[in-house]
Amino acid sequence: MNSNKLPVLAIVVPCYNEEEVLMITARELTGVLQGMISESLVSMESTILFVDDGSTDKTWELISAMHKTNRHVSGIKLAKNAGHQNALLAGMDQAGNFSDCIISIDADLQDDVEVIRQFVLKFREGCDVVYGVRRQRKNDTIFKRQTAQAFYKLMGKLGVELIYNHADYRLLSKRALKELERYGESNFFMRGIVPLIGFPSAQVYYDRKERAAGESKYPIGKMLAFAFDGITSFSIKPIRFLTACGFLFIFISAAAGLFALFQKMNGYTVPGWTSIVLSLWLIGGLQLMAIGLIGEYVGKVFKEVKKRPRYCIESGLHRTAHQQKRTSETPLRTRLRSSRKLS
Ligand code: UDP
Ligand code: MG
Repeated sequence: MNSNKLPVLAIVVPCYNEEEVLMITARELTGVLQGMISESLVSMESTILFVDDGSTDKTWELISAMHKTNRHVSGIKLAKNAGHQNALLAGMDQAGNFSDCIISIDADLQDDVEVIRQFVLKFREGCDVVYGVRRQRKNDTIFKRQTAQAFYKLMGKLGVELIYNHADYRLLSKRALKELERYGESNFFMRGIVPLIGFPSAQVYYDRKERAAGESKYPIGKMLAFAFDGITSFSIKPIRFLTACGFLFIFISAAAGLFALFQKMNGYTVPGWTSIVLSLWLIGGLQLMAIGLIGEYVGKVFKEVKKRPRYCIESGLHRTAHQQKRTSETPLRTRLRSSRKLS
């Protein structure tokens, strides 16, 4: 960024079937962006980049329509649903080409858009990463709150550095984006990777609200899968735990063997059907679980080795820096992109 030039900001918004909330979100974000432009905090060329993550509703039609009437709106459309993390990455990937900093935010306005200004102020003070941290989660269900807290605790115990109560609402400078590019893993758990970068960072606190409209696109199954993915992408401690369990069971069985021998020598042998069947099930279950967990890690290695792209962009709408007038829809990238590249 040139010192006398205002930074170009790109707000990246992944959207999956968000037709109900999209217009409200665009209006709010445009308001915030225009406010910052008039305050000379960010450049006129700043954009809101909507990433349509293979929606089956009118999300893309709405983005295209807004692009024609709102100079700040641009968009990319993924060929199929790639999941929140990959959609975000696709947007960051594109935004990194024309902006000095990016802010990622969900489409549902649960994250307070007013703190975007604070993000930018921190960026201008020299922070490369600004984390949006939820002050409280009173609008989440008790179940969601408890499971989220258990997840953070578990990750901490497993030695994974996460920012407590921070999801994917954050600012990243161009420099931080470039660093992120070097993490080439296919199993990309962004909120675990960003703290590893280590550039100057700050936290901004906000209250998380309820969805402005529409329903959560993260049902419980997807949420648990995401948490499990986060754990197994970052920690091998579960496998170590299994090894420890294995040793413990060998020790227990040796003790039980000695006990059985002692009983036999004293003539107390009992049929023991129940205990045998029970232990058979227990040990069998534990072994299956252990094999499954190891399989999970082997699967991850398999995915990494293949280095498949994480998303495919079908088309895109964007304006170049000098193109402030209305533009028509232009195919941006139709080829498969390597998931590792952010530029
Ligand atoms: N999302 C996405 N792809 C998906 C699922 C979700 O791009 O496969 C987007 C969604 O449109 C939203 C954000 O990810 O902007 C977070 O999803 P949601 O608000 O439904 O999750 P929750 O806040 O309930 O955890
Ligand atoms: Mg949400």
